[in-house]
Amino acid sequence: MNIDEIVRILRKEARNNNTPVVELIEERSHDAFKVLASTILSARTKDETTMNASRRLFESVKNPENLAELSLKQIEELIYPVGFYRNKAKFLKKLPLYLGNGVPDTMDELVKIPGVGRKTANIVLSIAFNKKVIAVDTHVHRITNRWGLAMTKTPLETEQALMKKLPEKYWNEINYLLVSFGQNTCTPISPKCSKCLIYNYCMRVGVKKHR
Ligand code: SF4
Repeated sequence: MNIDEIVRILRKEARNNNTPVVELIEERSHDAFKVLASTILSARTKDETTMNASRRLFESVKNPENLAELSLKQIEELIYPVGFYRNKAKFLKKLPLYLGNGVPDTMDELVKIPGVGRKTANIVLSIAFNKKVIAVDTHVHRITNRWGLAMTKTPLETEQALMKKLPEKYWNEINYLLVSFGQNTCTPISPKCSKCLIYNYCMRVGVKKHR
């Protein structure tokens, strides 16, 4: 599998698709607090909705202290209509309690924060701290299995498989490249294989229906 060529194609696709996730990453990439808060907002939510909610939130909230000053109701109003906004507002309300020394830069510390799982932690480590990690979400898991690269059953297994098979220089960007690709081409149901530029590199494992 020619990973260098695949990444080159994915980068071009991401630029052409102009996917909100790319814009979102560029906007928040220098502030660990913003990366963490907006990644908490992003779970089960369209990127565009996350981006708009993040912008509204960060107009009032520049740091954990600002967040602590808001009521739960105010946070809910700022982040609505992200998915599960009531739960996420509760997570954000508790966030300042965990950030006394700033946003942690280790997996062990990050996953202690309410609303932060392994995927969110890896996104924070990757984008905010530039650590060499692979954030595996549903797109990364699905697509690398369709390629025949991962051959795994769970996102955690995929993370471990990709750490062995994917050159380290691509670890940080593979998540947003595949989120963009997964939203536009290699979609969960009926991927657009007939016009996929990666077709010749893909084993299409488990793909029964495609366009
Ligand atoms: S050929 Fe089909 S299954 Fe393979 S990456 Fe492209 S869209 Fe996805």
